[in-house]
Amino acid sequence: MTLTTPDTDAFHWLVDMLESVEVGLVVLDLDFRVQAWNGFMENHSGITASQIREKVLFDAFPDIPEAWLKRKVDSVVMLNTRAFTSWEQRRYLFKFRNTRPITGTEEYMFQNLTISPLTNTNGQVDKVCLLVYDVTEFASSKRALERANEQLAKLSKTDRLTGLLNRGTWENLVDVEFGRYRRYGNPTSLVMFDIDHFKKVNDTHGHLAGDEVIRHAAQTTQDAIRHTDSAGRYGGEEFGLILPETDGDGAAIICDRIRMAIENSVVKTTVADIQYTISVGIAELDSQPENYMQWLQRADEALYEAKEGGRNRVVVYHGWGV
Ligand code: GH3
Ligand code: MG
Ligand code: MG
Repeated sequence: MTLTTPDTDAFHWLVDMLESVEVGLVVLDLDFRVQAWNGFMENHSGITASQIREKVLFDAFPDIPEAWLKRKVDSVVMLNTRAFTSWEQRRYLFKFRNTRPITGTEEYMFQNLTISPLTNTNGQVDKVCLLVYDVTEFASSKRALERANEQLAKLSKTDRLTGLLNRGTWENLVDVEFGRYRRYGNPTSLVMFDIDHFKKVNDTHGHLAGDEVIRHAAQTTQDAIRHTDSAGRYGGEEFGLILPETDGDGAAIICDRIRMAIENSVVKTTVADIQYTISVGIAELDSQPENYMQWLQRADEALYEAKEGGRNRVVVYHGWGV
C-alpha cells in the first residue's frame, strides 16, 4: 500500500460528502467565476456544476445583489477572515423556491450565508467559499411566532367585536390625556355615548343582530373621528371617545355628526333592517376634576341628562347644580 492511495481515497469521499451535504457550497475565484458547485446548489438552482463552471456568478444569477456581495467578499479577502450574514439581514442570496412541505407557506428559501477565505499554497487568499444554509423552517416558525405575538398584543388592547380599544386601554389613554391637560392646559373633551333602547333591539331581533348594531356604531364613530382621537368600547353598548385639542362646542359638532349619521343609517342584518339612535354626553376638561375618573363621571352625567331629556341627543356637561 502506498501513501498516495489513502490520500486519493480521502479526496474522493471528501468530495462525495461535500456533494451530498444539505448545505450549499460554492467556490468562487476573485473574479466571481464559479470553481465549485455542489449537489445542493444543483438541486435547488437546476443548474449543473458543469454548466456553471467558470461562469461569472452575477451572469448566471442576475438577482444577486452584486455590490453588496462584492463588498462582503472584498473584506473577507482583505482581512482573511470569515463573514456571516443571516436571513434577518438579507432573506436569501440565491432565490431558490422553498420545497419543504412543512414550511410550504414560504415561497422562497431563507438562507444564512458564510463566506470563508481560501488560501493557495503561497498563503494568499485567491478564492472564497460560500456556504448557503437553508434556514426556512427556523425562519418561518420565528416569523409565525412574531406575527402571533403582534396579533396577541393587538388583541389584548382591542375589543374583539368592534376592533375599538378595549375599556382598560381606553381608560389608560383618558388618564394620559388628563395628565397632558394638567401640563399644557390645551382644551380636550371626553365623550360617552350609549345606544338607545338597545335591550329592545336584542329582544326583537336577537343577540347576533344586536352585535351587528354595536359594530355599526363603532364603525360609524371610527369613520367620523380624526386619527388623533381615540375611540373605545366602554361596556356592552357604551362607547367612549377622547377628543384632544377640542373644546365642548367642537366636540358637540363632531358628536352631532355621529348621532345624525347613526339616526339616518339602516343596519341590514340577516334577520331585519334595523334603525337605532344614540345618546351622547360630553365633558370638556377644566381645572376642577382631580383625576380622570371625575372627568369620566362628568361625561357620564351629561349622558344621563341626554337620556333623561328624551334620548337621540347630545348634551355638553355644564356643571348643573353649581
Ligand atoms: P337606554 O336607552 O336607557 O340605554 O336603554 P337600553 O335598553 O339600551 O339599556 P341598557 O343600556 O341598560 O342596555 C344594555 C343592553 O345591552 C343590555 C345587554 O343585554 C345588552 N348588551 C350588552 N353587551 C352586549 C353585546 O355585546 N351584544 C349584544 N347584542 N347586546 C349586549
Ligand atoms: Mg343603552
Ligand atoms: Mg348601556
